[in-house]
Amino acid sequence: MTDDLLSRHRAVLPDWMPLYYGDAALEIVSGSGRRVTDAAGRTYLDFFGGVLTNMIGYDVAEITEAVQRQLSTGVVHTSTLYLIRQQVDLAEKIARLSGIPDARVFFTNSGTEANETALLMATNVRRSNQVLAIKNSYHGRTFATMAITGHRSWSSSSLSPLNVSWLSSADRLRGRMAGLTDGDLAEAAVDDLREVLATVTAGDVAALIAEPVQGVGGFVAAPDGVLGAYHKVLAEHGILLIADEVQTGWGRTGEHFWGYQAHGVTPDLITFAKGIGNGFALGGVVGRAAVMNAVPAISFSTFGGNPLSAAAGNAVLDYVLDHDLQANAARVGAILLDGLRALAAAIVGEVRGKGLMVGVEFVRPGTREPDPAATVRVFDECRAGGLLVGKGGLYGNVVRIGPPLTLTEDEAREGLAVLSGAIGRVDSEYH
Ligand code: PLP
Repeated sequence: MTDDLLSRHRAVLPDWMPLYYGDAALEIVSGSGRRVTDAAGRTYLDFFGGVLTNMIGYDVAEITEAVQRQLSTGVVHTSTLYLIRQQVDLAEKIARLSGIPDARVFFTNSGTEANETALLMATNVRRSNQVLAIKNSYHGRTFATMAITGHRSWSSSSLSPLNVSWLSSADRLRGRMAGLTDGDLAEAAVDDLREVLATVTAGDVAALIAEPVQGVGGFVAAPDGVLGAYHKVLAEHGILLIADEVQTGWGRTGEHFWGYQAHGVTPDLITFAKGIGNGFALGGVVGRAAVMNAVPAISFSTFGGNPLSAAAGNAVLDYVLDHDLQANAARVGAILLDGLRALAAAIVGEVRGKGLMVGVEFVRPGTREPDPAATVRVFDECRAGGLLVGKGGLYGNVVRIGPPLTLTEDEAREGLAVLSGAIGRVDSEYH
């Protein structure tokens, strides 16, 4: 059945859409807890959650009931021209949790749209089409968001007229190997910002957009404090700070509810999506009222914050808070990080991460040279062992682990055993 689906997929969907496992692509047909089952009846422990989209697990009664309650009203969608109770409830919660005083929330259907919206707000309020973005970032797949995405493989097709200047990303592996600390990296990053502002722009920039931990880029965390250090410089010019929390929000990083909180600064705008819908299409922007209200034209999103997605979002957020999933992410994430760091494998260049956002970077033994081939081997071995993980990074040489935040300690150890075995087998091929 999947074979037929694969050929139909290839015949009718665009060639540029990535499909994990190529000719052996998976069709997931059901899920429960942290496990999914494919069309052939094989069950996998899911360490990637559909790109961190499934945040609290599969088939969660509280979410199903909330969505069914909304469905049973017969009102699946009105329009944002009418009052939507679920949307207002969710906006109140997100505004309160955002840490932004006087916050306003606008809902979209995806992270891409959330970032588009943030760009619209920032460029309007600053009357400038200049934006600072970070190399190796990923912010979406549309005209403007591709333009602020800092890697050719993801961004080369946008001809957007946005004027983007690039800041260096903190590539920890290379930084660490060159003997740099987080503090050194942060200092270098701020020097870089000052130089770009002075030499590439006239300082009249609308905003800097940054992921607290680069997701698609391979789970590379910005050095703690760097967004705050950037902000001091940005504030001298009135430049806004946008935190793209599409992957890092809702307690994912364990130490904080939002990734930006590791940086001693509150952004002007925060964009979110992915996990908040737990599979339902939901994203948005929360930001300072002065910025959020600045767009002079009338604007709304037909589907953004619709009753069904907002019902799901409310139930998901309540679940995250009621079960303190941030604490679980910290606890269970530490098991993964410690277990992976204890591996003695020459192909592992670095194990890094925060909470349940863990990356393993593969290199040619004894060098800093990325090894995407070894990465694919590990990735495939994991699947064969019943474990789904993600792949990515600047050089395609990072295995990414971003399971639902409900992952148990036993499941963490089970997945760790599969991943460690896979790494060990691939590592032994080099000796
Ligand atoms: N921002 C970040 C950090 C992301 O990781 C992604 C998607 O992977 C996006 C934005 C785009 O979100 P979406 O795919 O929901 O449009």
